[in-house]
Amino acid sequence: MPELPEMEHYRSRLSHLLCGQQVTGVVVNREGTINEPAEVFKASLLGRVILFVERRGKHLLFHLDDGYRLHLHLMLGGWMSYGEQAPKKLSQYQVILSFGNGVSLYFGGLRLGYLHRITAKAAIEELKELGPDALDPRLTLEAFRKRLAGKKGKLKTTLTDQRFVSGIGNCYSDEIAFDANVFPAAAVSGLKDEEIERIYHSIRNVLTAAIEAGGYMEQPFTSDDTVTGGFNDLCQVYDRGDEPCRVCGTTIQHETITGRKMFYCPTCQPKGA
Ligand SMILES: [Zn+2]
Repeated sequence: MPELPEMEHYRSRLSHLLCGQQVTGVVVNREGTINEPAEVFKASLLGRVILFVERRGKHLLFHLDDGYRLHLHLMLGGWMSYGEQAPKKLSQYQVILSFGNGVSLYFGGLRLGYLHRITAKAAIEELKELGPDALDPRLTLEAFRKRLAGKKGKLKTTLTDQRFVSGIGNCYSDEIAFDANVFPAAAVSGLKDEEIERIYHSIRNVLTAAIEAGGYMEQPFTSDDTVTGGFNDLCQVYDRGDEPCRVCGTTIQHETITGRKMFYCPTCQPKGA
């Protein structure tokens, strides 16, 4: 599932390409992806201008010039591509938005994911449970410590809880724990002060590096895209089970905790540390 770096990568590309563009065409191939009858969705969107694109955690909000928002959550399996021509058959996209400049934005893989047209007030309501964005400058080390205080449960489970901080999922929680040299299933209540500090800085370092590398999405965003997915080869532990740790050579272990895959290096991230 795309996480903060993937969505931030999309946001920055879309902001650059879409702001000020008018919607001139709307195709809905799967009504379950949207939140109203397709005819209403189309009629309401045609002629609207996209003012800007906002990201909150793993969510994107396209701000429209009538005060409405398009709320996108890609969930598991969703992706986007942009250009004059679609890389796959048009029927494979659940929603397609076209713009006056002759290009379209194609939404694929939106089975669990969705694209809802909602009011600004409804957007606030839908996102009110989200914790602070993992890269929000107001999430200082002190604020992070306060949010962790009194928390029960394991580090990975806490980092991926969108009400705790928003934007971190399965991949980056493992990468952050590795970068901080902390066992991902360590009990949060037992973390030492210096471990919390390392985790805090690793959140910033890992997510920022992943944004710069283009995130881990496999589908290119445009036909000449050489950036998207650049982080795939930079993962230290995630999806590298049974491969050697790039730091110490120990075999990367993989387990399942609370239904999630977890990858770690038993030497760099000792359980009892
Ligand atoms: Zn190691």
